[in-house]
Amino acid sequence: MNSFQETRDQTSKWNVSCSQRAKNTFNPIRNFVQNMAVKPNPEKSPIRLSVGDPTEFGNLVIPRQAVNQLSENILSGKYNGYTMSFGTLEARKAIADYFSSRECPIQPQDVLLTCGTAGAIELILSAIGDEGKVLLVPKPGFPLFQTIASSLGMKTKSYRLKQEDNWQVDLTDLASQVDVDTVAIIVNNPSNPCGSVYTKQHLQDILNVAEKCKVPIIADEVYANMCFDGIPFYSVASQSRNVPVISLGSISKLFAAPGWRLGWLIVHDRHHILLNAGVVQCLHQLTMRMLVPSSPIQSVVPTLFSEPCRKEQSLIIEQLEHNANTAYPLLKNIPGLRCTKPQGALYMFIHLDLNILSFENDVEFTESLWKEESVFVIPGSCFGWNGAVRIVLNAPGPIITEACHRIQSFCERHLCLA
Ligand SMILES: *Cc1c(COP(=O)(O)O)cnc(C)c1O
Repeated sequence: MNSFQETRDQTSKWNVSCSQRAKNTFNPIRNFVQNMAVKPNPEKSPIRLSVGDPTEFGNLVIPRQAVNQLSENILSGKYNGYTMSFGTLEARKAIADYFSSRECPIQPQDVLLTCGTAGAIELILSAIGDEGKVLLVPKPGFPLFQTIASSLGMKTKSYRLKQEDNWQVDLTDLASQVDVDTVAIIVNNPSNPCGSVYTKQHLQDILNVAEKCKVPIIADEVYANMCFDGIPFYSVASQSRNVPVISLGSISKLFAAPGWRLGWLIVHDRHHILLNAGVVQCLHQLTMRMLVPSSPIQSVVPTLFSEPCRKEQSLIIEQLEHNANTAYPLLKNIPGLRCTKPQGALYMFIHLDLNILSFENDVEFTESLWKEESVFVIPGSCFGWNGAVRIVLNAPGPIITEACHRIQSFCERHLCLA
């Protein structure tokens, strides 16, 4: 027996414990949705405008041709093997071509495939963020950045978005948050939960801050091109001359296929700053842990980005635009609510005036709305912003209308009359 075995006998405890990494992992949206104890009103059909899943109502569908291609590819038996750890050339080329522009050319070798955008966030943070390092995230913002960062032992600090200014970045606040430990700034455009889309000028202003501070930008562009009313989408990378940008995306929202778990990371590194720091090499090394996404899903990427599928994709965006244009006028004049018109993405973020609504906070508002009106929304506090709620615009138009009417009568019933 070795000394380890000697010190253990039948009566001693099993050598099992939890990792600090696991204990540090917490996703507030999932936690809220999965643990909601309040029951909806049995008299009213439940309307769940809570999780940002485009497939929730069945009205937004993945392009048919991609589904046919997938089943054909699976039946062919040709896609059962491993691929390169960072994805097949065909899939990376289709993504590079789709996102390339004259001012921002992308080569297949700049693209790495991941398990959704979530996988891309995990990949880049693992590559650049040691324990104790700091990631700057928007507030309000999608909480997954924090979830993954803290699970890796990193810290997050937030910079403010200005509600009064269409949720643009407070540039002064952003600049003041950067310190020696800051490894990157997250920019999420179009924004979850705000539904805002940044102008070219605003992106340049953000890039100027990053350039002064010499901090790269991680651009979560999972809603790239999902803009309404003719508002153009500009990627952060397309506006950057000197700042290295890592842009992230997936087919989850773009093609209504979050369950397919196909995402990507694109390295924009004009001056070889990331390359010379070894980051590109590290990214490739890290992909060798997992080998994702699955080969059959990779095999349909060229089909997804082909012309017919992109046409169908534009129908998804049209429906979301229609929903935004339905919900905004119905909600904007409700006493106690303050809304900004969604410009893109999948969401509307609604400020609650808790001086005139009889609720302590947004969680209480959300629970009562579910209990009385069977409408499920997510409290702003899940996005680091108290006193707001987020609704998802993924339902068919008539359901969105019904939800807005219910929210209206709910708010009218709960006004505190001074
Ligand atoms: C939905 C979402 C993600 C995660 O998307 P997947 O590609 O399904 O992992 C990441 N970032 C934002 C802002 C999102 O809204």
